[in-house]
Amino acid sequence: NETPSRISILGSDSIILGRNLWPQHIIEQILRDVPSSTYVLISDTNIARVYTEQFQAKFGYLTGIIVKDRRPRLLTRELPPGEPSKSRQTKADIEDWMLSNNCTRDTVLIALGGGVIGDLVGFVAATYMRGVRFVQCPTSLLAMVDSSIGGKTAIDTPMGKNLIGAFWQPTKIFIDISLLKTLPKREFINGMAEIIKTAAIWSESDFRQLEASSSILMSFEKPSDMSEEALNIIERIVHAAVAVKAQVVSSDEKETGLRGLLNFGHSIGHAIEAILTPRMLHGECVAIGMVKEAEIARNRGDLDQIQLNRLRKCIMSYGLPQSLEEVGQACSIDRIIQNMMIDKKNDGIQKKIVLLNRVGSCIEQKAMLVQDSEVRNVLLL
Ligand code: ADP
Ligand code: ZN
Repeated sequence: NETPSRISILGSDSIILGRNLWPQHIIEQILRDVPSSTYVLISDTNIARVYTEQFQAKFGYLTGIIVKDRRPRLLTRELPPGEPSKSRQTKADIEDWMLSNNCTRDTVLIALGGGVIGDLVGFVAATYMRGVRFVQCPTSLLAMVDSSIGGKTAIDTPMGKNLIGAFWQPTKIFIDISLLKTLPKREFINGMAEIIKTAAIWSESDFRQLEASSSILMSFEKPSDMSEEALNIIERIVHAAVAVKAQVVSSDEKETGLRGLLNFGHSIGHAIEAILTPRMLHGECVAIGMVKEAEIARNRGDLDQIQLNRLRKCIMSYGLPQSLEEVGQACSIDRIIQNMMIDKKNDGIQKKIVLLNRVGSCIEQKAMLVQDSEVRNVLLL
């Protein structure tokens, strides 16, 4: 095993990226760098089935060697997989369970899972006894490149996703590419949407790497069949996406400008997702959103058709949709426009969208005001 790489965010080297980090490397680092009397590992049942037992066994063994005088305890909890777990009720249940187990302010929460677990556990950490430390161990590609990085934590309400939450930075983020081997292919593709998004707004050379890698990465039936070569490519691609996200977040932690660029494809994507969830996944909706938002830029004369086609082709090459028709789904345009009203980045009722001027670059370093009619025009097609 090669030594994992480190990526710095907000002035600290807290992102660790590599292979086969789970569980030994992660436990050793946590015991050393994030010491506590109590670790609380939370995951969903899909993930726990594969990864929790080995963690418990290794934890028992390593604490016996490394910290034998004051052995910390490990509490574990598994939640049902899926978005409904990102609720006020689940948050309250975890808190009551931690309180009844006498978890004090030195507790360290460990989020092992996709975006659902990471967002929820992060928000529990943000408010438990006014805030405790937490560690992100993302298991989905989407969580590795996007949701585990940057400290956005949240739960959903019946009015929409991620409406209640806090900025709360994880103490460490362990990105173990090997965990992707058990990820279903559709979830892998889902994560590719965020990777394409990051390259599209920021780095033409990262984008070129994605264009060049689709045939090998998509040639596998499922991630468990992936070759070493494919995993190496994924590691490189994930590293690139994480580095961009870390850089953007470091210059604008609370999203007052630059960080808003990471919402490319999300203004329209989220509005579609609200209608089509859970049939359509987040990344699939963002893929359609990227194409539509790029079309707005094209209609303004800011993005030329060749660049737009390049974006579409890349999205298609990773098996992601470019339009609702393509996936046999229909949404009323009025409902999409209506849903876009509660977008957190709007100014009041004025809609804001990230506009590209070519692949790898945006017109401005922030989201820009657009008219409803411009949105309507691209949705009509
Ligand atoms: P996301 O990460 O896309 O925001 P979720 O947290 O809901 O969303 O994860 C997506 C699905 O993938 C869930 O059903 C989850 O249990 C599953 N999953 C995540 N990571 C893995 C993994 N490494 N192996 C197997 N299944 C996984
Ligand atoms: Zn997203």
